[in-house]
Amino acid sequence: KEFRNNVRPNWCPGCGDFSVQASIQRALGNMDLEPENVAVISGIGCSGRISGYINSYGLHGVHGRALPIAQGVKLANRDLVVIASGGDGDGFGIGLNHFMHAVRRNIDLTYIVMDNNIYGLTKGQHSPTSAFGFKAKNTPQGTIENALKPAQVALSAGISFLAQGFSSDVNQLTSLIEQAIQHRGFSLINVFSPCVTYNKINTYDWYRENIVNLEQDENYDSSNKALAMQKVFETNGLCTGLIYKEDRPVFQDLVPGYKEEAITSQELRLDDEYFAKVMNQFA
Ligand code: SF4
Repeated sequence: KEFRNNVRPNWCPGCGDFSVQASIQRALGNMDLEPENVAVISGIGCSGRISGYINSYGLHGVHGRALPIAQGVKLANRDLVVIASGGDGDGFGIGLNHFMHAVRRNIDLTYIVMDNNIYGLTKGQHSPTSAFGFKAKNTPQGTIENALKPAQVALSAGISFLAQGFSSDVNQLTSLIEQAIQHRGFSLINVFSPCVTYNKINTYDWYRENIVNLEQDENYDSSNKALAMQKVFETNGLCTGLIYKEDRPVFQDLVPGYKEEAITSQELRLDDEYFAKVMNQFA
C-alpha cells in the first residue's frame, strides 16, 4: 500500500526525521495495512510535521498533547492503528506528564519520538534530553540541568514495550515499528534522530561511536526487566533495539461498555426513547 503522499517535507537536508518518516511508511506498507485504517497524531516541533507527510488519517495537534489526542482517537475507534509522534521537547518536556500516564494505562498505541536533544523548530535551545553542560543558544556556558533518559523513565513507569532506534539504521527502525504496532499495549520507540542544523554535538558520527546495539548481543533477553534496566543504565540510555516487552491487559479492553465494539461503530441513538432514558438518570 502507498503511504507516501505528494507533500514535500520542509526539514533541513540531512535531518534524521526523514529516515523516521521512511521507516514508518515502509513498516505500514510491509504490514499490508490500508491508509484509511491508520491515524498519525503529532505534537509541535520540526518532527511534528510528520503527520502531514504520511498518507493516512493525521492530526497535527498542539504542543505536548499528541498522546491525549491519540488516546482519544484509539478509544473512539479501537480498530485504527494509532501512531503518536513528536520530538523530545514535545514529548519529554511539556508532554512528559501525558507520557507517564499513557505508559501506566497501557493503551494500545505506538509512540515514536524523534529525539535530537535540542529544540530545532525554535532554532536551538537545550531540551530535556540535552546532556549536562550542553551548550545551546540559551545556555552559552552549558546547561546546569541533568538530562532526562527516556528509556529509564519508561521502564520505571512500567512500560510494556520499549525500543530505541537510530535514524541511520532504517532497516532496524522499520522492524521495530512493525513489532511495536503488532504489540498489544503502549509502545515507545525513542529514535536518535540528529538535528544537523543546530546540534553539532550529537551528530550521526557521535551516535555511531556511542550507541550499543542490543540486537548484536546474543545473550540479551528483552523479556527480563532487570536486565533491561541494567543495560539502559550501563549504556547511559544509548542502546538500540528491542529493550523490553511484556504482555499485560490493555486499557481499552478494560473500559466497561467498550469491550467489543469501537464507539464509532455503535449505533447513534437520537430518538425520544433514548433521550428519555438519559434524562431519567438525572431526575
Ligand atoms: Fe531537522 Fe534540526 Fe532542521 Fe528541525 S532544525 S528540520 S530538527 S535538522
